[in-house]
Amino acid sequence: MPDTNVTPMISMKNVQKHFGDLHVLRDIDLEVPRGQVVVVLGPSGSGKSTLCRTINRLEPIDSGEIRVEGELLPAEGRDLARLRADVGMVFQSFNLFSHKTILDNVTLGPIKVRKASKADARKRAEELLDRVGIAAQKDKYPAQLSGGQQQRVAIARSLAMDPKVILFDEPTSALDPEMVSEVLDVMVALAKEGMTMVVVTHEMGFARKAADRVIFMADGQIVEDTDPETFFTAPKSDRAKDFLSKIL
Ligand code: ADP
Ligand code: MG
Repeated sequence: MPDTNVTPMISMKNVQKHFGDLHVLRDIDLEVPRGQVVVVLGPSGSGKSTLCRTINRLEPIDSGEIRVEGELLPAEGRDLARLRADVGMVFQSFNLFSHKTILDNVTLGPIKVRKASKADARKRAEELLDRVGIAAQKDKYPAQLSGGQQQRVAIARSLAMDPKVILFDEPTSALDPEMVSEVLDVMVALAKEGMTMVVVTHEMGFARKAADRVIFMADGQIVEDTDPETFFTAPKSDRAKDFLSKIL
């Protein structure tokens, strides 16, 4: 058994990934300790989504290794399904099951993958929906909810699997501006409770408030890896300076 106090929740070593001729992840080395909140910044096309997608193996890698709490991410099979259940993912586009109720969206994974009883899954889903402020909507369908509500359901669905880490890929980018804060508030609360999180976002307020660490990517490389204060006030690379000058 790995020593969970020192084993990083996520560890990537020498990870390389190409799409055809495009070298989209270049020699990525990244360790995320338990409980850390990492915000990933970088221009469009720099490889942020691909980085997230390789961590739960929605995308295979060419070489290198990825471990989740010390365990090598397998290529396929039962072990992959189990490890993937440990790595939650929240997407820009919510990705709820449109023909299922909110409650069923949240109970499906625990019942199918974690083999929870229907009663237990339901009880836990109701607690989680309450926690994200959606309890009253549980019998509705996704299309009946606002974008901000749907994204909060997606977070509850992810939490229902008891993940070791949750990856967020621009979770508020598809939302109307007035709904951004209701989603960020849930994420800030999760961060404060000690959830390990990797968050791709352009929300600098979230980065300043909740991040322990900022990773800045450009052209498939991690160019800066530092604390938020240092990144925002004293970026080292020209790429980061240029990026910040456009968004701040
Ligand atoms: P980001 O999330 O930082 O905007 P992505 O990881 O989505 O960047 O994409 C990085 C690069 O890889 C971009 O040039 C993008 O066009 C390319 N890319 C992403 N997914 C694919 C794919 N499935 N096939 C080919 N190219 C891809
Ligand atoms: Mg992206």
